[in-house]
Amino acid sequence: MFAVFGTEVEVQLRDTVPARAQAAYADVGTLLQRLHRELHPWEEGELTALNRSIAAGGTHTTTLDLAALIEASQRLETATEGAFNPAIGALVELWGFHTSNYPITDPPPAADPIDALVAHSPSTRDLVLEELEVRSANSAVQLDFSGIAKGLAVRRVCEVIDRHSVGAAMVNAGGDVMVCSAGRRPWRVAVRAPGGGVLETIEVDRPLAVFTSGNYYRYGDFDGERYAHILDPSTGRPVSEIVQATVIDSNPMTADAGATALVVAGADEWERVADLLDAETAIVIDADGAVSRLDKRRAGRR
Ligand code: AMP
Ligand code: MG
Repeated sequence: MFAVFGTEVEVQLRDTVPARAQAAYADVGTLLQRLHRELHPWEEGELTALNRSIAAGGTHTTTLDLAALIEASQRLETATEGAFNPAIGALVELWGFHTSNYPITDPPPAADPIDALVAHSPSTRDLVLEELEVRSANSAVQLDFSGIAKGLAVRRVCEVIDRHSVGAAMVNAGGDVMVCSAGRRPWRVAVRAPGGGVLETIEVDRPLAVFTSGNYYRYGDFDGERYAHILDPSTGRPVSEIVQATVIDSNPMTADAGATALVVAGADEWERVADLLDAETAIVIDADGAVSRLDKRRAGRR
């Protein structure tokens, strides 16, 4: 078990020998520590340094993994028509979500500062990336990769494990799962249900990611009013129509960012956004508890 960005990461290995497993675990531990330092949105590290440079209008040399996150985020922000937008870190911070202590009991921010940040329309498309050099045309961009970092992390964990020639591996990051390789028999993967139970269990026999975002995992609670940690970038305010969204896809970054985006897209738009993302499967639970699913293969969208 490893602790990274406020989540417990568990790695299960099969079809291997203890010496190989131990070496793989040790390398995974080193990797996750590095990612924690690089990607943490408010603890001093590579990302906070990059954000300071953007705010000052400077150019900053970043890391391979941050560059990979910027590139993936630019693609996914466009694909989700802005529902997924990790450039809204200043809004996330304004709402008090730069904390590990949930629920938050501070009052929500006033309308003026929210609207002022929205008016600057921060976008990952404001970023110019040349090799590892990053600058931004918009100093209101503040990067917060919390909605996609786990997707990158599980991909990197699988790459590290692959190098150790382990037969079968699965990574569980606080209920978000990536099957790296299935080996001789399929893994059983639970899709989370709101409140902590299991919505369904699926058998996975190939590399596949199952990511769930919900507005009940991290939230603020003030005067009986609950506000989610997922914000609609177009309003700067928390969303509430969708209680949770799961995206299943072979690309873990699509699954992670996609799940966050579907919660933002809301009841009327999530199917369209899932289509735009080209995600293999999307499962959405609305505020009345109704479960809907969209399957690319069944819908003949392939
Ligand atoms: P997740 O748990 O993957 O859905 O990620 C949620 C986290 O992503 C939040 O705690 C925020 O830090 C950040 N976030 C909130 N709203 C958005 C959004 N619309 N797009 C991208 N990241 C967001
Ligand atoms: Mg996400």
